[in-house]
Amino acid sequence: MNKNVKKIAVLPGDGIGPEVVAEALKVMNIVAQNRSIQFNFSPGLVGGASIDAHATPLTDATLQMCLESDAVLLGAVGGPKWENLPHAQKPERALLKLRKELGLFANVRPAKIYSALIDASTLKPEVIGNIDLVVMRELTGGIYFGEPRGVRDNGQEKVGINTLVYSTSEIARITHAAFDLSRKRRKIVTSVDKANVLDTYQLWRDVVNSIAKEYPDVKLSHLYVDNCAMQLIRNPQQFDVILTENMFGDILSDEAAMLTGSIGMLPSASLGPRSAMYEPVHGSAPDIAGKGIANPIATIASVAMMFHYSFDMPAEAMAIENAIEKVLNQGYRTADIAENGKVPISTQEMGKLITTALQSELK
Ligand code: NAD
Repeated sequence: MNKNVKKIAVLPGDGIGPEVVAEALKVMNIVAQNRSIQFNFSPGLVGGASIDAHATPLTDATLQMCLESDAVLLGAVGGPKWENLPHAQKPERALLKLRKELGLFANVRPAKIYSALIDASTLKPEVIGNIDLVVMRELTGGIYFGEPRGVRDNGQEKVGINTLVYSTSEIARITHAAFDLSRKRRKIVTSVDKANVLDTYQLWRDVVNSIAKEYPDVKLSHLYVDNCAMQLIRNPQQFDVILTENMFGDILSDEAAMLTGSIGMLPSASLGPRSAMYEPVHGSAPDIAGKGIANPIATIASVAMMFHYSFDMPAEAMAIENAIEKVLNQGYRTADIAENGKVPISTQEMGKLITTALQSELK
């Protein structure tokens, strides 16, 4: 069989990062054994691990390796050991640099309920239903990056300033990404802004409306961010693709994530013109690192997204999701999602069960 060779930069990072990434790589290898794809994994240090070895959270060599890869798989960065470093040297700076250098302007975070875990949600089962939504967040613009910024002294007191800037082209490219994605789903886009108060968001709404004309088959509606925050807990089943800007996306994607129960279940993809980056939504969980009890599902589901978005292999992505679902339906749980009185399984046991289930899904 002639194999399609893909180069993957693997950055496990800190805390539970290496533990969960190890299980995700096993899942990738199972797909490679059963399909005409081959992975060349290039490992690299990131975050605290890189600070300890090289005195910087991301070396130029590691960045270059990511730029030359077909996709990047990242675990998590950070931990108490590096918490007191100056802002510019903290482990999290590596993520900002990777996003910037790889041009990752679109962050995709699905929030999907696994039926076996419906009781883990804080919402009533009839409200949560079988939600299956995606938050498409603009990642490289808006108030997190706008200039001028800073804290100044006006002679009488200190004044803090941040600037909310979006250009038409920045809004247009994330809008296209959201509409294109919705066409592979239920074809409903909800654009979230605060156009009733801020000029930048009026431009956002105008650009979204004009691009929507190119997608007559997709249903578009607009919500103000305050209403969207309410609707997410009142009737989350109405949403398919939520399109929003950087800061609103930061907040709403965490809210949407918690609808599904545990942070250990949530994958993400960050897309741009070059190689995309895949990582679990959770952090390095220093409180459980090294104990072998972390939930690897968020990272494994991130790999499913990689098959979908980077390799255009939706059937294999679906096979991974089905394997996760099957293992959950059989009642297996890591500690974070175990019901009271149930004996949890380890990170490695969960990885093994999913790879075994995947093997039969791919037959
Ligand atoms: P966290 O996501 O690491 O942990 C929050 C809670 O969820 C903890 O109780 C943890 O044990 C639990 N948890 C997280 N992932 C889990 C998993 N896979 N399985 C089981 N339980 C899991 O968030 P935090 O505690 O606020 O941050 C810890 C460190 O991670 C900090 O240094 C923070 O800056 C960093 N962080 C990194 C990222 C990233 O790398 N993308 C994201 C968030 C936080």
